[in-house]
Amino acid sequence: MITKKGKVYYKTNGKCSYCGEDLEPFGYWHMDHQFPKSRGGSDELDNLMPACKFCNSSKGNKTIDEWKQFLLKDQDSGTFVRFYYERFQEIKDYTDDVFANFIEN
Ligand SMILES: [Zn+2]
Repeated sequence: MITKKGKVYYKTNGKCSYCGEDLEPFGYWHMDHQFPKSRGGSDELDNLMPACKFCNSSKGNKTIDEWKQFLLKDQDSGTFVRFYYERFQEIKDYTDDVFANFIEN
């Protein structure tokens, strides 16, 4: 029987849903609550996406839109954020495809 974490992992064939990085099946990655759990997001499969630890910690309790705004707004403020921004731009097409597939509405 496949675990919930396994199902989340295979949503993207084992890649971080935000930056596209390969994730080790049993390695250190997170099930990101696409709509933040702390703000009422569910633990259901449709709200969970695989995320590397970097994306997960950067996104924090932001929604996708808030996170995008955060990355755009703060792109000049420091190496840490710029790293995400550049990476985000690189994989934007990939990410948008994933969003299209898994975000409702
Ligand atoms: Zn990532």
